[in-house]
Amino acid sequence: MAEQAAVARQPIAATSQMKKLMADHFLALDRAKKEGTPKVAWCTSVGPAELLHSMGFQVYYPENHGALLGATRMATDFIPVANAIGYSPDICSYLTSDVGAYLKGMTPLTKAYGVQSIPKADVLVYNTNQCRDVQDWFSFYAREWKVPLIGIHTHRNIGAVESYHISDLVEQIQALIPTLEEVSGNRFDMDRFREVVGLSLECTKLWRKVLECGEVKPAPLTFFDTSVHMAPAVILRGLPEAVDYYKLLLKELDERIEQKVAAIPGERHRVYWDGMPIWGKLRDLSELFFSLKTNIVASTYCNSWIFDAFDQAQPFESMARAYTELFIVRDESYKEAYMDQWIKNCQIDGVIYHDARTCPNNSNSRYNMPQRMSERLSVPVLVINGDLNDLRCYSEEQAKTNIEAFVEQLDEKH
Ligand code: SF4
Repeated sequence: MAEQAAVARQPIAATSQMKKLMADHFLALDRAKKEGTPKVAWCTSVGPAELLHSMGFQVYYPENHGALLGATRMATDFIPVANAIGYSPDICSYLTSDVGAYLKGMTPLTKAYGVQSIPKADVLVYNTNQCRDVQDWFSFYAREWKVPLIGIHTHRNIGAVESYHISDLVEQIQALIPTLEEVSGNRFDMDRFREVVGLSLECTKLWRKVLECGEVKPAPLTFFDTSVHMAPAVILRGLPEAVDYYKLLLKELDERIEQKVAAIPGERHRVYWDGMPIWGKLRDLSELFFSLKTNIVASTYCNSWIFDAFDQAQPFESMARAYTELFIVRDESYKEAYMDQWIKNCQIDGVIYHDARTCPNNSNSRYNMPQRMSERLSVPVLVINGDLNDLRCYSEEQAKTNIEAFVEQLDEKH
């Protein structure tokens, strides 16, 4: 009995508040759609959310819906529907599962929140900082609903962020305003914009602190926790609710650290995860790593919603910088230096790269990076083949065997 208690997983209490926030978010979007006000803007996950909030839009993030389709494993049924109308199985499986779900008239929001359909957009706003797929994804809905499609084209694969990158992006962000004014019926207000940027900055600082809890030994949370608890940073940044939520979560994590509560009791190894979660296998992988007493304490993916550059004094410039300094926008040298720093800070024993078949943008194992890292840092490295949503690309048995062998390697090094 005592032994059972020692290995029990202690759930994060703040989760219930996060679930409430998610429900409120989707119900507010549903209400806005039914009542016609406020107007609904779709935004890519690292798109110009602050501008949209400042102009009074209710903001919806289709990638979040894509993750829900993956986590509920509904994606598997919908991807072939999009494939059948010409969207290749090799492109983003968020896109294909979301478009497939739309064509079938289904959504996981119905079971979760009683919402019958995704909220129709009044305007679609993308940023290509992460990939081109988001523009093609939003283009489908622009054609379908005949609503404006506007966006920002970010420089990609960059080393240092230069002033010409920023000035170009500031012009592009400002060029969005006339369409947003027309659709929302609201005038752009600089003071309100500064206020929203300030809220995003507060959110980002708190989210960074949550992720830095992974530096503590034993860590009070896992990658599987942060993959879930990042939702407010993705879909509520710029709003006071996200700030309040991360204050609550941090308080709980600080208590855990003080009381030495480990997310994985008896934590033996600490791992860094690069690449996207395998949404449909989050629970299974979480249980596998728990049984191996190996904690994934840091990841590139969850760090993607840290935007250190936000500055109320320079809202346009800082927003342009924040959404360009991102890991996914940068070249290999920057990415390696970035990962090295987190690996050092979190006292990492080994690194797992997830090569997601349909997202080359978030897969960093394809140009020899794992081999370079292994040589440079003398850490065991594993590449898992899989996908964010398309489980046809993932072999559970093979991944399990490889992960177990990887942990044996970590055992040998200790
Ligand atoms: S970054 Fe990857 S997962 Fe995200 S929208 Fe682009 S292709 Fe899809």
